[in-house]
Amino acid sequence: PYQDMSKERMLDIRQNNCNPMTMKVTYYKKPVHIHQGYMQWLWDTDGRRYLDLFAGVATVSVGHCHPKVTAAAEKQLRRLWHTTSIYMYPTVHEYTDKLAALLPDPLKVVYLVNSGSEANDLAMLMARVHTGNFDIITLRGSYHGGSPLATGLTSNSAYKFPVASGFGCHNTMCPDVFRGPWGGRHCRDSPVQTVRNCSCSQDHCQANEMYIDQLKEMFATTVPNRIAAFFGEPIQGVGGAVQYPKNFLKETYKLVRERGGLCIADEVQTGFGRTGSHFWGFQGHGVLPDMVTMAKGIANGFPMAAVVTTQEIARSFAKGVHFNTFGGNPVACAIASSVLDVCIIYNGSQHISANIGTYLLHELAKLREKYEIVGDVRGKGLMIGVEMVKNKASQEPLPPQDLGEIFEDTKDMGVLIGKGGLYGQTFRIKPPMCITKADADFFLAVFNRALQNYMERRLKP
Ligand code: PMP
Repeated sequence: PYQDMSKERMLDIRQNNCNPMTMKVTYYKKPVHIHQGYMQWLWDTDGRRYLDLFAGVATVSVGHCHPKVTAAAEKQLRRLWHTTSIYMYPTVHEYTDKLAALLPDPLKVVYLVNSGSEANDLAMLMARVHTGNFDIITLRGSYHGGSPLATGLTSNSAYKFPVASGFGCHNTMCPDVFRGPWGGRHCRDSPVQTVRNCSCSQDHCQANEMYIDQLKEMFATTVPNRIAAFFGEPIQGVGGAVQYPKNFLKETYKLVRERGGLCIADEVQTGFGRTGSHFWGFQGHGVLPDMVTMAKGIANGFPMAAVVTTQEIARSFAKGVHFNTFGGNPVACAIASSVLDVCIIYNGSQHISANIGTYLLHELAKLREKYEIVGDVRGKGLMIGVEMVKNKASQEPLPPQDLGEIFEDTKDMGVLIGKGGLYGQTFRIKPPMCITKADADFFLAVFNRALQNYMERRLKP
């Protein structure tokens, strides 16, 4: 009933006029035709309601069409759509001031851009200009963007093309305590720990030492001793909510800085309170980056992104002109400013992330006990991963087809979640930070039922 265009026509356009890869990542056998959204809910064109636990990949931070954010956008749309950094405009300056205040010293200089890829491109350029070095280190399994420069940072073959790119980018081992070679049972900063056996003790992570050793070996053998930067997400997003052992980032930052490099935190998914314990994911690792890149949740789904860095780095970069037509767009800034108000003043988004996220993690861990195919439950706040396996002993990834069945079933029962991980083996849960305990319970009941349905089908003769 709520339809501007028939489903058939839309599918036809999607097949013939859209990037063909969008068909591959449409995800569902029966795609969802969205009509509208409000807060944590989406409605399809048949009037069916879905609980949105993926939020356009952690992008809708405070809720679809949040009334306060929508009002701020409408007000700005009537006043001024565009100006460039040539002029002074209060909305842009107010936002810059507000954002800078949320970062610890000396991270106070804000560059506004339009996407996460663009933010990471800019951060790469700034790091190279400031240090005079070229080489950059990132972790395998990471996603930092799809632009020609950022694909070098991204270490996931699905996003790579056979063209010359990513010069000077080195992807080192990701310290994944579940799927990596060395385990690490007690070692990550999550309310739930992995069940995998390893030789780590409560306060000593042997796996971390091994990962740090291999990084040292990389510096000794394959990477020049002077580097420009290290890029790392505080929790890998596309990689499947992968968390590192507790001191990994701290020790990596030290090694990188000893070699003249800058440390860059990609907070595109983890920022704005999503990890619950802190406003920025890096704070949970006890590190202070030289640059922070952010996008997605920054403007609740409106295109915007930022790089925040220090005066010293900004001064080095000011040797050339950096200009960006849409960066700092007044409508984007009005929206982003209202998002901060909602996050901090009205909603307490970070607390919601901590409370509901911790509850979800504990309850999901019970499903891990119950089902042979739930290999790992991890994450922090509302940045959660559930890694699916054929069985716990082999830890072999559950094949995409099988995972797809559970995914489709969950959707048919009214809940949208995401997929990720190198083999597409991990469910990703990163809802708008306005969900309630009742929403969490609804999801848990649905997910339990979908797992049960899958097991029953598998056991059928
Ligand atoms: N960094 C991270 C951690 C991301 O998850 C993404 C997008 N998935 C990006 C960067 C790139 O952002 P964008 O798609 O806005 O270019």
